[in-house]
Amino acid sequence: MTDGTPTPKIERTRRLALVGAGAVGSEVARLLAEAGFEDVLVVDPDRLERRNLRTSLLYLEAERKQPMCGLAKADIVRDFAREVHGLRWRSFTCEIADVGLGDLRDRELIVSCTDSAVARIETAMAARTLGLPMVDGAVRSHGVPEARATWFAASSSAACYLCGFSVARRAELLGYALSESLGCVAPPEADAMSGTSLATAVVARLLVQMLGAAEPGPDRSFAQVLDVRTEPAVRELLQLSRSAACPWHPLPAAEQMMTIDRGETLRDALKRVCGNNPDGVLELGWPVCLRARCRACGAECEPRLRTARLRRRGVCTACGSTGTLDPLACLGTIRAEDREACRTAEDLGLPANQMYFVRKQLRLRIESDARIRSREASDEAYV
Ligand SMILES: [Zn+2]
Ligand SMILES: [Zn+2]
Repeated sequence: MTDGTPTPKIERTRRLALVGAGAVGSEVARLLAEAGFEDVLVVDPDRLERRNLRTSLLYLEAERKQPMCGLAKADIVRDFAREVHGLRWRSFTCEIADVGLGDLRDRELIVSCTDSAVARIETAMAARTLGLPMVDGAVRSHGVPEARATWFAASSSAACYLCGFSVARRAELLGYALSESLGCVAPPEADAMSGTSLATAVVARLLVQMLGAAEPGPDRSFAQVLDVRTEPAVRELLQLSRSAACPWHPLPAAEQMMTIDRGETLRDALKRVCGNNPDGVLELGWPVCLRARCRACGAECEPRLRTARLRRRGVCTACGSTGTLDPLACLGTIRAEDREACRTAEDLGLPANQMYFVRKQLRLRIESDARIRSREASDEAYV
């Protein structure tokens, strides 16, 4: 398959994080491995199911050699690159928000091939915080089949993934991923981007071309859109502009963030950075759920899981249902005097190698104003 443009010189040494190893992600991985990209970190929480074999050449090829169903997708992709192409790829079997930012810090680019807007928000947040460009691939099979590859530049003055949404939808998505408030339901996927194998192949190729090309400049975000039926003739190039109301310009930079030592309590970590200043506040990044109730059986539990993950994948210890836990108490920020500050990051289920932003009172006030506004908008969206 060709789209008429010459294949650019491939930068095989680029250190990539590939987030999502579904139909699009596994095809991107197959092409990256074939092109000899040496250093890719693959992140996906799921295990391979038989139905995935229909939409992925990589999984089909791997399954032909030995049974793969039930194994972690990220590990299968990693081993494929190692065994077939002799590349030293690595893998994490978890959602992107559960990978410590410290483990992503040495990446040069994040490739997003996830299948939901919330997972893209989490991927984009990591890219934004670490000052990395993000390349995103999506396909649409209903209506006019479409393949879309987007380059989000790293600069704070460029459009980010969040910029492309309406204020209401942005608040809804952020509310779900970030909010400590209760009663958030999973936001509907406005545009289910799961698609045909043709669209998958087209978008994977587009993405790999983008990855192999020279950087388009630090503050230029753009999308390439292909009508899959007429490919290669129709290609739309959209320049994306920053939304003035988007709250991610800027986010705290990685240089301003701290790590917590293994076994160190959050209180000790705060003291190490802020001394005895009582105004220091540690931001957890993604809120953690401390207490939840099961909608199916009414039992309460103390899951200590990231709240968004709990809503999607939390398992009730009483009745075994998945995705039925509603958060009752969540934690997003910690001060030295808080009760939970005596815990370690591990106690709270936070990722190893995570990086945290510590802010002082003044900054906090500005931030909390923004949060209150965002919650008001979010409430509107639910009325
Ligand atoms: Zn933005
Ligand atoms: Zn239950």
